[in-house]
Amino acid sequence: KGDGKARSQIFHAQMDIDYHYRQRLKADLREAVQHGGLTLTFQPLVDIATRKVVACEALARWDHPELGLVAPSTFIPLAEEMGLISQITEWVIGTAIAQCSAWPGAVSVAVNISARDFRGVDLMAVIEEALARCGLAPSRLEIEVTETAVIEEHDIAKRLLTALAAKGVAIALDDFGTGYSSLSYLHALPFTKLKIDRSFVADIASDEKSLQLLANVARLGRDLDLIVVAEGVETEAQLDMVLEHTKVQQVQGYFFSRPLPARDIAELIGRLNAP
Ligand code: C2E
Ligand code: CA
Ligand code: CA
Ligand code: CA
Repeated sequence: KGDGKARSQIFHAQMDIDYHYRQRLKADLREAVQHGGLTLTFQPLVDIATRKVVACEALARWDHPELGLVAPSTFIPLAEEMGLISQITEWVIGTAIAQCSAWPGAVSVAVNISARDFRGVDLMAVIEEALARCGLAPSRLEIEVTETAVIEEHDIAKRLLTALAAKGVAIALDDFGTGYSSLSYLHALPFTKLKIDRSFVADIASDEKSLQLLANVARLGRDLDLIVVAEGVETEAQLDMVLEHTKVQQVQGYFFSRPLPARDIAELIGRLNAP
């Protein structure tokens, strides 16, 4: 019982480490963003019927010189907190569009947008400028937003997404099923694609109820005329279940490929999409 004080000292020591670690990460992140320390990887979205790559999602990577890879789930929230996210988003959009314009065929590129981005830079201007610079059609770009982001910034999000959709940019609702899943804004906003979160896929090969749930969510998306994507397909057994028992049209996940550096994704597209 007498160890309360010791425990609280340990607790405070841990908080100190966390605090100093975060301060260091923040300083180093600012440096990385300003001096080209981030890279992009790309993960394919595969059409389940043709097995061709239809799009690739751009995913940011930070390889810290001493700490190694820092996960985006760590540095993206830090960047949001620091007001650095719009700078990152602007760079992601420019880099992703430039890569996409070099891919064979009509493969699209998908970019993630944070809630903070709606109030940051003029995204419309950034996107139009990047598309024009690379001569890429707006229909080759997909913007991924989460439910949380569109709810937090509903009016601004609606205005921007509607304007982008009018230009022909595809708008995807990301991580569907993990947020509020309020169906009312599904058709109040100009979504063209529904990405079902990977938690709905994880158990489908072993659990009949999970499979039914995924099938029902996919049907909901199709009834709303959305392209439906299943995220996190890791095994052939999961792929078979999706193919045979759901109306999902596209899959993304480790089964087809992990996120790859730009060079490797171009090679993978060339191989999978060869006639
Ligand atoms: P997300 O947008 O849902 O991206 C998909 C995440 O799932 C990626 O994690 C990807 O590597 C992972 N994933 C793909 N297939 C599988 C699979 O079969 N199994 C499992 N277990 N995971 C799979 P990642 O790259 O670590 O990114 C995590 C999150 O960080 C992203 O989730 C996104 O919300 C955010 N993020 C990444 N890059 C950016 C960016 O450039 N901008 C913004 N705003 N957010 C980003
Ligand atoms: Ca995403
Ligand atoms: Ca997702
Ligand atoms: Ca996610």
